[in-house]
Amino acid sequence: MADFGGADIEAFRLQVRDWLRANYPAALRDPAVVIDPEAMWGGRAFAGPAKDPHIQWMRRMAAQGWTAPTWPKACGGAGLAAEQARVLEQELSAGGYRTPLASFGLWMLGPVLLEYASEEQKRGHLPKIAAGEIRWCQGYSEPGAGSDLASLQTRCEDAGENWLINGQKIWTSYANKADWCFCLVRTDATKKHEGISFVLIDMATPGVETRPIKLISGDSPFCETFFTDVRIPKDNLVGKVGGGWEIAKRLLQYERQNISGGFGGGGGAGGSAGDLGQIAKRYLPLEADGALADADLRGRITRNKMDFQAFYLTIGRVAAESRANSGPSAATSIIKYAAATLAQERSELMVEAMGHQGLGWEGEGFAPGEVMATRGWLRSKGNSIEGGTSEVNVNVVAKRVLGLPDPK
Ligand SMILES: Cc1cc2nc3c(=O)[nH]c(=O)nc-3n(C[C@H](O)[C@H](O)[C@H](O)COP(=O)(O)OP(=O)(O)OC[C@H]3O[C@@H](n4cnc5c(N)ncnc54)[C@H](O)[C@@H]3O)c2cc1C
Repeated sequence: MADFGGADIEAFRLQVRDWLRANYPAALRDPAVVIDPEAMWGGRAFAGPAKDPHIQWMRRMAAQGWTAPTWPKACGGAGLAAEQARVLEQELSAGGYRTPLASFGLWMLGPVLLEYASEEQKRGHLPKIAAGEIRWCQGYSEPGAGSDLASLQTRCEDAGENWLINGQKIWTSYANKADWCFCLVRTDATKKHEGISFVLIDMATPGVETRPIKLISGDSPFCETFFTDVRIPKDNLVGKVGGGWEIAKRLLQYERQNISGGFGGGGGAGGSAGDLGQIAKRYLPLEADGALADADLRGRITRNKMDFQAFYLTIGRVAAESRANSGPSAATSIIKYAAATLAQERSELMVEAMGHQGLGWEGEGFAPGEVMATRGWLRSKGNSIEGGTSEVNVNVVAKRVLGLPDPK
Protein backbone atom coordinates (compact mmCIF):
# COMPACT_ATOMS: atom_id res chain seq x y z
CA MET A 1 0.00 0.00 0.00
CA ALA A 2 1.22 3.51 -0.78
CA ASP A 3 2.32 5.48 2.28
CA PHE A 4 0.89 9.00 2.48
CA GLY A 5 2.24 9.76 5.96
CA GLY A 6 3.74 13.22 6.23
CA ALA A 7 2.51 14.39 2.81
CA ASP A 8 0.60 17.66 3.02
CA ILE A 9 -3.09 17.50 2.30
CA GLU A 10 -3.01 18.88 -1.26
CA ALA A 11 -0.22 16.53 -2.24
CA PHE A 12 -2.30 13.77 -0.71
CA ARG A 13 -5.30 14.85 -2.79
CA LEU A 14 -3.29 14.60 -6.02
CA GLN A 15 -1.95 11.19 -5.06
CA VAL A 16 -5.47 9.97 -4.31
CA ARG A 17 -6.79 11.38 -7.59
CA ASP A 18 -4.03 9.66 -9.60
CA TRP A 19 -4.49 6.38 -7.79
CA LEU A 20 -8.27 6.36 -8.30
CA ARG A 21 -7.91 7.12 -12.01
CA ALA A 22 -5.32 4.39 -12.46
CA ASN A 23 -7.18 1.73 -10.51
CA TYR A 24 -10.85 2.20 -11.41
CA PRO A 25 -11.80 -0.70 -13.70
CA ALA A 26 -12.71 0.64 -17.16
CA ALA A 27 -15.72 -1.72 -17.23
CA LEU A 28 -17.36 0.29 -14.45
CA ARG A 29 -17.45 3.34 -16.70
CA ASP A 30 -19.01 1.39 -19.56
CA PRO A 31 -22.83 1.42 -19.32
CA ALA A 32 -22.99 -1.67 -21.57
CA VAL A 33 -21.22 -3.83 -18.95
CA VAL A 34 -23.68 -5.63 -16.65
CA ILE A 35 -22.72 -5.42 -12.98
CA ASP A 36 -24.28 -7.67 -10.37
CA PRO A 37 -26.20 -5.27 -8.06
CA GLU A 38 -25.35 -7.54 -5.12
CA ALA A 39 -21.60 -7.23 -5.73
CA MET A 40 -21.22 -3.97 -3.82
CA TRP A 41 -22.38 -5.79 -0.64
CA GLY A 42 -19.57 -8.35 -0.94
CA GLY A 43 -19.63 -11.40 1.33
CA ARG A 44 -18.95 -15.09 0.93
CA ALA A 45 -21.09 -15.17 -2.21
CA PHE A 46 -18.26 -13.30 -3.95
CA ALA A 47 -15.31 -15.26 -2.57
CA GLY A 48 -12.81 -16.57 -5.12
CA PRO A 49 -11.55 -14.94 -8.32
CA ALA A 50 -13.01 -11.47 -8.94
CA LYS A 51 -15.20 -12.01 -12.02
CA ASP A 52 -17.37 -8.95 -11.47
CA PRO A 53 -15.62 -5.58 -12.16
CA HIS A 54 -17.16 -4.17 -9.01
CA ILE A 55 -15.46 -6.87 -6.93
CA GLN A 56 -12.13 -5.97 -8.57
CA TRP A 57 -12.72 -2.35 -7.58
CA MET A 58 -13.68 -3.30 -4.02
CA ARG A 59 -10.57 -5.45 -3.60
CA ARG A 60 -8.25 -2.77 -4.94
CA MET A 61 -9.76 -0.18 -2.60
CA ALA A 62 -9.64 -2.62 0.32
CA ALA A 63 -5.97 -3.38 -0.36
CA GLN A 64 -5.33 0.36 0.05
CA GLY A 65 -7.32 0.32 3.30
CA TRP A 66 -9.68 2.83 1.68
CA THR A 67 -12.97 1.01 2.26
CA ALA A 68 -12.49 1.88 5.96
CA PRO A 69 -10.00 4.73 5.65
CA THR A 70 -9.89 5.87 9.30
CA TRP A 71 -9.66 2.40 10.83
CA PRO A 72 -6.21 1.31 12.03
CA LYS A 73 -4.10 -0.54 9.47
CA ALA A 74 -4.10 -3.67 11.63
CA CYS A 75 -7.91 -3.71 11.34
CA GLY A 76 -8.02 -3.43 7.55
CA GLY A 77 -8.13 0.36 7.38
CA ALA A 78 -5.57 2.91 6.19
CA GLY A 79 -5.15 4.77 9.49
CA LEU A 80 -5.99 8.06 7.74
CA ALA A 81 -6.59 11.25 9.70
CA ALA A 82 -10.15 12.66 9.48
CA GLU A 83 -8.98 15.37 7.07
CA GLN A 84 -7.40 12.83 4.74
CA ALA A 85 -10.51 10.64 4.84
CA ARG A 86 -12.59 13.66 3.86
CA VAL A 87 -10.29 14.30 0.88
CA LEU A 88 -10.73 10.68 -0.22
CA GLU A 89 -14.54 11.03 0.10
CA GLN A 90 -14.45 14.25 -1.95
CA GLU A 91 -12.33 12.71 -4.69
CA LEU A 92 -14.55 9.61 -4.90
CA SER A 93 -17.61 11.82 -5.22
CA ALA A 94 -16.08 14.35 -7.65
CA GLY A 95 -14.79 11.57 -9.93
CA GLY A 96 -18.16 9.79 -10.00
CA TYR A 97 -16.63 6.56 -8.65
CA ARG A 98 -18.94 3.85 -7.37
CA THR A 99 -19.03 3.27 -3.61
CA PRO A 100 -16.65 0.32 -3.38
CA LEU A 101 -18.38 -1.40 -0.47
CA ALA A 102 -21.86 -1.06 1.03
CA SER A 103 -21.90 -2.85 4.34
CA PHE A 104 -23.66 -2.96 7.69
CA GLY A 105 -20.32 -4.19 8.99
CA LEU A 106 -18.62 -1.02 7.85
CA TRP A 107 -21.37 1.42 8.87
CA MET A 108 -22.61 -0.07 12.14
CA LEU A 109 -20.72 -3.04 13.55
CA GLY A 110 -17.13 -2.02 12.82
CA PRO A 111 -17.25 1.27 14.74
CA VAL A 112 -18.65 -0.42 17.87
CA LEU A 113 -16.15 -3.29 17.65
CA LEU A 114 -13.41 -0.66 17.62
CA GLU A 115 -14.87 0.78 20.82
CA TYR A 116 -15.95 -2.33 22.72
CA ALA A 117 -14.42 -5.54 21.34
CA SER A 118 -11.37 -7.44 22.57
CA GLU A 119 -8.17 -7.20 20.50
CA GLU A 120 -8.77 -10.75 19.30
CA GLN A 121 -12.32 -9.93 18.15
CA LYS A 122 -11.10 -6.81 16.37
CA ARG A 123 -8.35 -8.71 14.55
CA GLY A 124 -10.76 -11.53 13.71
CA HIS A 125 -13.63 -9.49 12.29
CA LEU A 126 -12.58 -6.00 11.24
CA PRO A 127 -10.19 -6.89 8.37
CA LYS A 128 -12.87 -9.15 6.85
CA ILE A 129 -15.43 -6.35 7.09
CA ALA A 130 -13.06 -3.85 5.47
CA ALA A 131 -12.23 -6.34 2.71
CA GLY A 132 -15.93 -7.01 2.00
CA GLU A 133 -15.34 -10.71 2.68
CA ILE A 134 -18.14 -11.08 5.23
CA ARG A 135 -21.61 -9.57 4.88
CA TRP A 136 -23.40 -8.74 8.14
CA CYS A 137 -27.02 -8.33 9.16
CA GLN A 138 -28.58 -6.75 12.24
CA GLY A 139 -30.60 -8.95 14.63
CA TYR A 140 -32.24 -6.36 16.87
CA SER A 141 -36.06 -6.25 16.35
CA GLU A 142 -38.35 -9.04 17.51
CA PRO A 143 -42.10 -9.52 17.06
CA GLY A 144 -42.63 -8.08 20.56
CA ALA A 145 -39.67 -5.70 20.66
CA GLY A 146 -39.34 -2.89 18.11
CA SER A 147 -39.48 0.61 19.55
CA ASP A 148 -39.27 -0.93 23.02
CA LEU A 149 -36.21 -2.86 21.95
CA ALA A 150 -35.12 -3.69 25.49
CA SER A 151 -38.15 -6.02 25.79
CA LEU A 152 -36.37 -8.51 23.54
CA GLN A 153 -36.76 -12.17 24.49
CA THR A 154 -34.28 -14.18 22.41
CA ARG A 155 -32.63 -16.35 25.07
CA CYS A 156 -28.90 -16.89 25.37
CA GLU A 157 -27.91 -19.48 27.97
CA ASP A 158 -24.52 -20.53 29.25
CA ALA A 159 -24.06 -24.09 27.94
CA GLY A 160 -20.53 -24.74 29.16
CA GLU A 161 -18.25 -24.33 26.16
CA ASN A 162 -20.90 -22.47 24.14
CA TRP A 163 -23.72 -19.99 24.32
CA LEU A 164 -27.05 -21.63 23.45
CA ILE A 165 -29.46 -19.32 21.60
CA ASN A 166 -33.20 -19.72 21.06
CA GLY A 167 -35.65 -17.13 19.77
CA GLN A 168 -36.87 -15.10 16.82
CA LYS A 169 -35.88 -11.85 15.19
CA ILE A 170 -37.89 -9.95 12.60
CA TRP A 171 -37.31 -7.34 9.87
CA THR A 172 -33.69 -8.54 9.65
CA SER A 173 -32.56 -6.75 6.48
CA TYR A 174 -30.79 -9.11 4.05
CA ALA A 175 -30.59 -11.92 6.64
CA ASN A 176 -30.98 -14.43 3.81
CA LYS A 177 -27.89 -12.98 2.11
CA ALA A 178 -25.76 -12.23 5.14
CA ASP A 179 -22.88 -14.40 6.38
CA TRP A 180 -22.93 -13.23 10.01
CA CYS A 181 -25.41 -11.46 12.30
CA PHE A 182 -24.73 -9.01 15.14
CA CYS A 183 -27.47 -9.78 17.54
CA LEU A 184 -29.03 -8.68 20.82
CA VAL A 185 -29.91 -11.53 23.17
CA ARG A 186 -31.20 -11.93 26.71
CA THR A 187 -28.68 -13.46 29.14
CA ASP A 188 -30.70 -12.53 32.23
CA ALA A 189 -34.50 -12.58 32.36
CA THR A 190 -34.67 -10.78 35.72
CA LYS A 191 -33.17 -7.48 34.52
CA LYS A 192 -34.50 -5.55 31.52
CA HIS A 193 -31.58 -3.49 30.19
CA GLU A 194 -28.78 -5.14 32.18
CA GLY A 195 -30.01 -8.57 31.01
CA ILE A 196 -29.08 -7.88 27.37
CA SER A 197 -25.86 -9.02 25.70
CA PHE A 198 -24.36 -8.38 22.26
CA VAL A 199 -23.30 -11.50 20.34
CA LEU A 200 -21.95 -12.36 16.89
CA ILE A 201 -23.53 -15.32 15.09
CA ASP A 202 -22.31 -17.10 11.96
CA MET A 203 -25.45 -17.53 9.85
CA ALA A 204 -24.12 -20.91 8.65
CA THR A 205 -24.45 -22.32 12.21
CA PRO A 206 -26.96 -25.19 12.47
CA GLY A 207 -30.32 -23.96 13.81
CA VAL A 208 -30.31 -20.57 12.02
CA GLU A 209 -33.19 -20.19 9.57
CA THR A 210 -34.39 -17.18 7.55
CA ARG A 211 -37.71 -16.55 5.81
CA PRO A 212 -37.96 -13.52 3.49
CA ILE A 213 -40.90 -11.12 3.98
CA LYS A 214 -42.37 -9.36 0.95
CA LEU A 215 -42.48 -5.58 1.22
CA ILE A 216 -45.23 -3.29 -0.11
CA SER A 217 -42.85 -2.16 -2.90
CA GLY A 218 -42.60 -5.72 -4.22
CA ASP A 219 -39.06 -6.36 -2.92
CA SER A 220 -38.13 -8.81 -0.17
CA PRO A 221 -35.27 -7.01 1.49
CA PHE A 222 -35.81 -8.43 4.93
CA CYS A 223 -36.60 -11.65 6.79
CA GLU A 224 -37.88 -13.37 9.85
CA THR A 225 -34.85 -15.00 11.47
CA PHE A 226 -35.20 -18.03 13.72
CA PHE A 227 -32.61 -19.38 16.15
CA THR A 228 -33.28 -22.91 17.37
CA ASP A 229 -30.68 -24.41 19.71
CA VAL A 230 -27.96 -22.39 18.01
CA ARG A 231 -24.56 -22.92 19.67
CA ILE A 232 -21.94 -20.21 19.31
CA PRO A 233 -18.43 -20.03 20.81
CA LYS A 234 -18.10 -18.18 24.13
CA ASP A 235 -15.71 -15.73 22.43
CA ASN A 236 -18.55 -14.42 20.25
CA LEU A 237 -19.95 -12.23 23.01
CA VAL A 238 -18.75 -8.62 22.71
CA GLY A 239 -18.08 -6.59 25.87
CA LYS A 240 -19.41 -7.83 29.20
CA VAL A 241 -22.21 -10.34 29.79
CA GLY A 242 -25.23 -8.07 30.39
CA GLY A 243 -23.41 -5.09 28.89
CA GLY A 244 -25.05 -5.28 25.46
CA TRP A 245 -27.51 -2.43 25.85
CA GLU A 246 -24.80 0.23 25.90
CA ILE A 247 -23.25 -1.25 22.74
CA ALA A 248 -26.71 -1.54 21.13
CA LYS A 249 -27.47 2.16 21.68
CA ARG A 250 -24.07 3.24 20.41
CA LEU A 251 -24.55 1.16 17.27
CA LEU A 252 -27.94 2.82 16.68
CA GLN A 253 -26.23 6.20 16.64
CA TYR A 254 -23.90 5.00 13.88
CA GLU A 255 -26.89 3.45 12.07
CA ARG A 256 -28.92 6.67 12.20
CA GLN A 257 -25.98 8.71 10.98
CA ASN A 258 -25.45 6.39 8.02
CA ILE A 259 -29.12 5.92 7.11
CA SER A 260 -29.56 9.69 6.94
CA GLY A 261 -26.79 10.04 4.36
CA GLY A 262 -28.34 7.21 2.34
CA PHE A 263 -31.85 8.64 1.95
CA GLY A 264 -30.54 11.24 -0.40
CA GLY A 265 -32.38 13.40 -2.86
CA GLY A 266 -32.26 10.69 -5.47
CA GLY A 267 -32.74 6.93 -5.44
CA GLY A 268 -31.71 4.91 -2.42
CA ALA A 269 -34.24 4.15 0.27
CA GLY A 270 -37.27 5.67 -1.42
CA GLY A 271 -38.06 7.87 -4.37
CA SER A 272 -36.42 7.68 -7.75
CA ALA A 273 -33.34 9.40 -9.03
CA GLY A 274 -33.32 12.71 -10.92
CA ASP A 275 -34.10 16.36 -10.36
CA LEU A 276 -37.64 16.65 -9.02
CA GLY A 277 -38.35 19.98 -10.78
CA GLN A 278 -37.14 18.67 -14.17
CA ILE A 279 -39.16 15.48 -13.81
CA ALA A 280 -42.32 17.47 -12.95
CA LYS A 281 -41.83 19.61 -16.09
CA ARG A 282 -42.09 16.50 -18.26
CA TYR A 283 -45.59 15.79 -16.98
CA LEU A 284 -47.22 19.14 -16.27
CA PRO A 285 -48.21 22.34 -18.16
CA LEU A 286 -45.58 25.09 -18.20
CA GLU A 287 -45.65 28.92 -18.24
CA ALA A 288 -44.20 30.79 -21.23
CA ASP A 289 -40.89 31.14 -19.34
CA GLY A 290 -40.66 27.36 -18.79
CA ALA A 291 -41.69 27.40 -15.12
CA LEU A 292 -44.31 24.95 -13.84
CA ALA A 293 -47.76 26.50 -14.28
CA ASP A 294 -49.05 25.06 -11.00
CA ALA A 295 -47.67 27.68 -8.60
CA ASP A 296 -48.58 25.71 -5.49
CA LEU A 297 -46.75 22.56 -6.59
CA ARG A 298 -43.84 24.67 -7.87
CA GLY A 299 -43.52 26.23 -4.43
CA ARG A 300 -43.61 22.87 -2.62
CA ILE A 301 -41.01 21.34 -4.96
CA THR A 302 -38.73 24.34 -4.50
CA ARG A 303 -39.10 24.15 -0.73
CA ASN A 304 -38.24 20.42 -0.72
CA LYS A 305 -35.14 21.07 -2.85
CA MET A 306 -34.04 23.91 -0.58
CA ASP A 307 -34.65 21.80 2.52
CA PHE A 308 -32.51 19.02 1.02
CA GLN A 309 -29.70 21.50 0.33
CA ALA A 310 -29.85 22.76 3.90
CA PHE A 311 -30.00 19.16 5.14
CA TYR A 312 -26.87 18.15 3.21
CA LEU A 313 -24.96 21.15 4.53
CA THR A 314 -26.05 20.17 8.03
CA ILE A 315 -25.03 16.52 7.74
CA GLY A 316 -21.69 17.62 6.31
CA ARG A 317 -21.18 19.77 9.41
CA VAL A 318 -22.40 17.08 11.82
CA ALA A 319 -20.15 14.47 10.17
CA ALA A 320 -17.15 16.80 10.48
CA GLU A 321 -17.97 17.42 14.17
CA SER A 322 -18.41 13.72 14.74
CA ARG A 323 -15.01 12.97 13.19
CA ALA A 324 -13.38 15.68 15.31
CA ASN A 325 -15.02 14.50 18.56
CA SER A 326 -15.75 11.04 19.87
CA GLY A 327 -18.07 9.79 17.12
CA PRO A 328 -21.78 10.40 16.66
CA SER A 329 -24.11 11.47 19.47
CA ALA A 330 -27.83 11.44 20.23
CA ALA A 331 -28.05 14.36 17.77
CA THR A 332 -28.04 11.72 14.99
CA SER A 333 -31.73 11.30 15.87
CA ILE A 334 -32.33 14.84 14.59
CA ILE A 335 -30.83 14.10 11.19
CA LYS A 336 -32.49 10.66 10.97
CA TYR A 337 -35.86 12.30 11.61
CA ALA A 338 -35.24 15.12 9.11
CA ALA A 339 -33.92 12.74 6.44
CA ALA A 340 -36.97 10.47 6.70
CA THR A 341 -39.38 13.40 6.51
CA LEU A 342 -37.68 14.99 3.47
CA ALA A 343 -37.32 11.69 1.59
CA GLN A 344 -41.01 10.87 2.09
CA GLU A 345 -42.04 14.37 1.05
CA ARG A 346 -39.93 14.10 -2.11
CA SER A 347 -41.53 10.77 -3.02
CA GLU A 348 -45.02 12.22 -2.49
CA LEU A 349 -44.22 15.20 -4.71
CA MET A 350 -42.80 12.92 -7.39
CA VAL A 351 -45.93 10.77 -7.74
CA GLU A 352 -48.17 13.85 -7.47
CA ALA A 353 -46.32 15.52 -10.36
CA MET A 354 -46.54 12.37 -12.49
CA GLY A 355 -50.33 12.14 -12.09
CA HIS A 356 -51.70 8.84 -13.41
CA GLN A 357 -48.23 7.86 -14.65
CA GLY A 358 -47.07 7.90 -11.03
CA LEU A 359 -49.46 5.09 -10.16
CA GLY A 360 -47.93 2.31 -12.29
CA TRP A 361 -46.95 -0.95 -10.66
CA GLU A 362 -46.02 -2.74 -13.90
CA GLY A 363 -47.20 -3.08 -17.49
CA GLU A 364 -46.66 -1.52 -20.90
CA GLY A 365 -48.36 1.78 -20.08
CA PHE A 366 -45.53 2.75 -17.72
CA ALA A 367 -41.87 3.55 -18.34
CA PRO A 368 -39.33 1.83 -16.01
CA GLY A 369 -38.62 5.18 -14.29
CA GLU A 370 -42.35 5.60 -13.58
CA VAL A 371 -42.65 2.15 -12.04
CA MET A 372 -39.54 2.95 -9.96
CA ALA A 373 -41.18 6.18 -8.74
CA THR A 374 -44.34 4.35 -7.62
CA ARG A 375 -42.39 1.60 -5.91
CA GLY A 376 -39.98 4.13 -4.43
CA TRP A 377 -42.93 6.03 -2.98
CA LEU A 378 -44.19 2.82 -1.36
CA ARG A 379 -40.68 1.96 -0.12
CA SER A 380 -40.30 5.43 1.37
CA LYS A 381 -43.04 4.61 3.88
CA GLY A 382 -40.36 2.57 5.68
CA ASN A 383 -38.05 5.59 6.02
CA SER A 384 -39.80 6.76 9.17
CA ILE A 385 -39.70 3.23 10.67
CA GLU A 386 -36.24 1.72 9.95
CA GLY A 387 -33.42 2.54 12.35
CA GLY A 388 -35.96 3.66 14.97
CA THR A 389 -39.29 5.30 14.13
CA SER A 390 -39.64 9.06 13.78
CA GLU A 391 -41.68 9.17 17.02
CA VAL A 392 -38.93 7.32 18.88
CA ASN A 393 -36.25 9.61 17.44
CA VAL A 394 -38.24 12.66 18.49
CA ASN A 395 -38.34 11.15 22.01
CA VAL A 396 -34.54 10.72 21.94
CA VAL A 397 -34.12 14.35 20.88
CA ALA A 398 -36.45 15.51 23.67
CA LYS A 399 -34.67 13.52 26.37
CA ARG A 400 -31.03 13.30 25.31
CA VAL A 401 -30.52 16.46 23.24
CA LEU A 402 -32.94 18.97 24.81
CA GLY A 403 -32.82 17.41 28.29
CA LEU A 404 -36.60 17.52 28.71
CA PRO A 405 -38.04 15.47 31.57
CA ASP A 406 -39.52 12.01 30.97
CA PRO A 407 -43.34 12.35 31.10
CA LYS A 408 -43.64 9.00 32.93
C1 LIG B 1 -37.02 -1.05 5.79
C2 LIG B 1 -36.80 -1.54 7.19
C3 LIG B 1 -35.63 -2.22 7.49
C4 LIG B 1 -35.42 -2.73 8.78
N1 LIG B 1 -34.25 -3.43 9.04
C5 LIG B 1 -34.05 -3.95 10.26
C6 LIG B 1 -32.89 -4.75 10.53
O1 LIG B 1 -32.04 -4.99 9.65
N2 LIG B 1 -32.74 -5.28 11.76
C7 LIG B 1 -33.63 -5.07 12.76
O2 LIG B 1 -33.39 -5.55 13.86
N3 LIG B 1 -34.75 -4.32 12.55
C8 LIG B 1 -34.99 -3.78 11.32
N4 LIG B 1 -36.13 -3.03 11.08
C9 LIG B 1 -37.14 -2.91 12.14
C10 LIG B 1 -37.26 -1.54 12.75
O3 LIG B 1 -36.15 -1.23 13.54
C11 LIG B 1 -38.57 -1.56 13.58
O4 LIG B 1 -39.64 -1.76 12.67
C12 LIG B 1 -38.76 -0.27 14.33
O5 LIG B 1 -37.83 -0.17 15.37
C13 LIG B 1 -40.20 -0.14 14.91
O6 LIG B 1 -40.56 -1.27 15.62
P1 LIG B 1 -41.96 -1.99 15.35
O7 LIG B 1 -42.04 -2.27 13.88
O8 LIG B 1 -42.05 -3.16 16.27
O9 LIG B 1 -43.07 -0.93 15.69
P2 LIG B 1 -43.65 -0.58 17.13
O10 LIG B 1 -42.54 -0.41 18.08
O11 LIG B 1 -44.72 -1.56 17.47
O12 LIG B 1 -44.31 0.83 16.88
C14 LIG B 1 -45.61 1.02 16.32
C15 LIG B 1 -45.93 2.50 16.32
O13 LIG B 1 -45.98 2.99 17.67
C16 LIG B 1 -45.11 4.12 17.82
N5 LIG B 1 -44.49 4.11 19.14
C17 LIG B 1 -43.97 3.04 19.78
N6 LIG B 1 -43.44 3.42 20.96
C18 LIG B 1 -43.61 4.76 21.06
C19 LIG B 1 -43.27 5.73 22.05
N7 LIG B 1 -42.63 5.40 23.18
N8 LIG B 1 -43.59 7.02 21.81
C20 LIG B 1 -44.26 7.39 20.67
N9 LIG B 1 -44.61 6.49 19.70
C21 LIG B 1 -44.29 5.20 19.89
C22 LIG B 1 -44.06 3.92 16.74
O14 LIG B 1 -43.45 5.14 16.40
C23 LIG B 1 -44.87 3.34 15.60
O15 LIG B 1 -45.50 4.35 14.87
C24 LIG B 1 -36.37 -2.52 9.80
C25 LIG B 1 -37.57 -1.82 9.50
C26 LIG B 1 -37.78 -1.34 8.21
C27 LIG B 1 -39.06 -0.61 7.91
